[in-house]
Amino acid sequence: MNKRNYQKELDEITDRITADGRKQSLCLHVCCAPCSSYCMEYLCRYFDITLLFFNPNMDSKEEYDKRQTELIRLVEEAGFPVKIELFRYEPEHFYENVKGHEGDPEGGERCFICYELRLKKAAEFAAENGFDYFTTTLSISPYKNAEKINGIGEKLALEYGIRHLPSDFKKKNGYKRSIELSREYGLYRQDYCGCVYSRRDKERDYEKNS
Ligand code: SF4
Repeated sequence: MNKRNYQKELDEITDRITADGRKQSLCLHVCCAPCSSYCMEYLCRYFDITLLFFNPNMDSKEEYDKRQTELIRLVEEAGFPVKIELFRYEPEHFYENVKGHEGDPEGGERCFICYELRLKKAAEFAAENGFDYFTTTLSISPYKNAEKINGIGEKLALEYGIRHLPSDFKKKNGYKRSIELSREYGLYRQDYCGCVYSRRDKERDYEKNS
């Protein structure tokens, strides 16, 4: 079976929006400022965006606050015309959901549960507030599985009766551009994905290689 080209699917949607001459509303789940930077720059041309900073997977309140503060600073300094919805740090949602998957490697089942937990909040919020679309910035990471992210998004779209915006933001040099923007704005770029298990694995790798 041919692999789907999510970037092409997104291009078709943005072409239709351009032809129509009217922006659509988008509820965009964001994980951190570096990943959001390119996504905002790119999507603002086509969508009125509301960002959802909902990341109960973070390993500490300190890390959660740091990433949230950087996001707000980026939006202000770059002047992106977006709204931001913030949520309280409630890691118990994450731990309840990934129970039994603590030892999974990054990119395994635990991560798929984690994608779904965060995308679900965006689908719920989008449905409750009458958005045209919802999606997440997660597919910009070369370490994350775009097929899984989109598959989960499509499943939630059916569940909540709201359109999921397909994405593979690393395409079209999206990941490269996010690094350029991170440098330009001096953004904090964490060296682990976010949860306590990704931090543990990163520290283990450092020890092995030192
Ligand atoms: S490694 Fe990243 S995506 Fe996977 S569970 Fe941890 S925070 Fe979530």
